[in-house]
Amino acid sequence: MIRLENVSKSFGTHEVLKDITLSIEEGEKLVIIGPSGSGKSTMIRCMNFLEEPTSGQVIINGQVMSKKQRAHINRANSSMVFQQFNLYPHLTVLENLTIAPIRLKHVKKQDAEEAAMVYLKRVGLEEKASVYPSTLSGGQQQRVAIARALTMNNKIIFFDEPTSSLDPEMIQGVLDVMVELSKENNLTMVVVTHEMGFARKVADRIVFLDEGILLEEGTPEHFFTNPRHERLKLFLSKIIR
Ligand code: ADP
Ligand code: MG
Repeated sequence: MIRLENVSKSFGTHEVLKDITLSIEEGEKLVIIGPSGSGKSTMIRCMNFLEEPTSGQVIINGQVMSKKQRAHINRANSSMVFQQFNLYPHLTVLENLTIAPIRLKHVKKQDAEEAAMVYLKRVGLEEKASVYPSTLSGGQQQRVAIARALTMNNKIIFFDEPTSSLDPEMIQGVLDVMVELSKENNLTMVVVTHEMGFARKVADRIVFLDEGILLEEGTPEHFFTNPRHERLKLFLSKIIR
């Protein structure tokens, strides 16, 4: 579905991604781990065309994307959930969920609102439709952000460290929502996270990015029982508590 082929990315003289080749299948649940600064965000930003590789190709369904197609695909076909929820503070929860379908997909307001309520229910927040994001806890805001990502009915959702700015007691609620989502067979999920319990439960595959290099990939089982590289072992010893 998405393939990075020999993708490298530099910012000035700093090569952040080094010759990454990686394919993601439709419906796959892929978890990306790696130390801070290893290029995880940059890699998923290349996958959804928020960032342009310095060299190499991003191929979607077998097609190399032109610049125009890239801009379109980014907006129309993938959703992203960020560490810092990025909700619109001046809009209610419901409006946060309906603005993109109404503006980008020309869905009728009433239909968009009905759909939004279904998504809010899925994340357990239907009673919060009319409040502003600032009145919600971090965990609730992140669940709203996930519901918002769902409103576009996209086949792929990128999560960039969705729980790493949350208070500890808020993390599980967000992960539970993501585990529920992962049961959708045809939804592709690409998740940067260090929640290895979550990874073990939902990942079809984990990749370890280290200083811009895809150093190791395998099943969760592999990562828990038989990691090869010393740098991965060291990293895992720090994140698995
Ligand atoms: P990670 O998500 O693994 O923490 P990032 O992909 O955010 O890593 O960043 C990898 C490296 O690239 C970091 O050293 C970061 O400072 C640098 N970097 C990321 N984005 C930019 C940018 N827009 N301009 C310059 N440097 C950047
Ligand atoms: Mg990052």
